[in-house]
Amino acid sequence: MSDKNRKLAPATIAAQAAGAVNRADGGVVPGISMASTYERDRDNALLSPENIYARDHNETIRQAEEVLRQLEGAAASLLFPSGMAAIAAVLRTVPGGGRVIMQSGIYWGTTSWVRDFCARRDVTLEEVDAADEGALMAACAAPADLVWIEVPSNPWLKITDIARAAELAHGAGAALAVDGTAATPVLTRALDHGADIAMHSATKAINGHTDVVAGVLSCRDSDAPVWRAIAADRHDAGAILGPFEAWLLMRGMRTLPLRMERMCESARRIAAFLADHEAVEAVLYPGLEGHPGHDLAARQMRGGFGYLMSVLIRGGKARALEVNGRLALFHRATSLGGVDSLVEHRATIEPDTGIPGNLLRLSVGIEDVDDLIADLSQALEG
Ligand SMILES: *Cc1c(COP(=O)(O)O)cnc(C)c1O
Repeated sequence: MSDKNRKLAPATIAAQAAGAVNRADGGVVPGISMASTYERDRDNALLSPENIYARDHNETIRQAEEVLRQLEGAAASLLFPSGMAAIAAVLRTVPGGGRVIMQSGIYWGTTSWVRDFCARRDVTLEEVDAADEGALMAACAAPADLVWIEVPSNPWLKITDIARAAELAHGAGAALAVDGTAATPVLTRALDHGADIAMHSATKAINGHTDVVAGVLSCRDSDAPVWRAIAADRHDAGAILGPFEAWLLMRGMRTLPLRMERMCESARRIAAFLADHEAVEAVLYPGLEGHPGHDLAARQMRGGFGYLMSVLIRGGKARALEVNGRLALFHRATSLGGVDSLVEHRATIEPDTGIPGNLLRLSVGIEDVDDLIADLSQALEG
């Protein structure tokens, strides 16, 4: 019996780019629409009524947004030229003199820019450990405009209860925005848990091939004032992605669910290997049963615990840098979520912010897991 209302699974949505085809020539793969402006006929009517000017009117970008919208289960999704541009578009909805509650110990680029932005706009900023429910509850006791959390957080891999954070944010009159970059919409759909805005750096696992910089915002209610303000900001202030990048993103996303499956499974095996290794002091990975957020992550994430982990190396910073230097397959580079595994000594990038000197952050790619474990093994023992 066929069920006409059956919803397609993420693997199908992604593999078929949400049904995008090339309308011009019938190609199974969509073309790239590069025009910066669109023609009118003799009666001055637009040939294509949805397209006036390419700052915010572009078919390739709309197709990539449709894939993301369906994966996220969102009312609407908008692409931005970077994750930071997406974050900035959300923050710009906060009125001067407003109040923002932001999770502490998250992606350093967010922390640093939001601090600076709030200071310039006379916005009160409170940074709290949102994974600690009591701390978030205390911060939400006073009215606020926006609550910003990151799940899992980078590089601490803390897990915040999104549904509870949404309740607390809404009680304070605030919108809840969730940066889910380390999870992707395949593992966590923040909007399903009550968030108002889901944000991802698409530069990371969503694109997955380390060749596009992009960001995305999605909403549960496209009529909500916060979303209308974001959409107006993108249209008017013009932080748009280029069509070529949107096309590459669509190509990358075709394998997103498949990549996540492999990356999560490999990360789980690598975390278990590291947790048992005598040269390792601790492994921060929500897939490990000893992780304080494990049970919550098991409820909140579908199909795996992600591809990102932090490892504390026994013997301090010098030892960690030696291990880092000996890795041969893991590329020493910032960023995460690509098909190639990466390692980063976070304290080098982010000195004096409380990141332990012995912390190495690993982003697990799609290489053979035994090759990756052998590489880690020789680097730890060397
Ligand atoms: C990389 C990253 C960002 C910023 O995204 P860009 O695309 O680099 O601007 C934001 N949040 C998290 C968690 C990230 O990892």
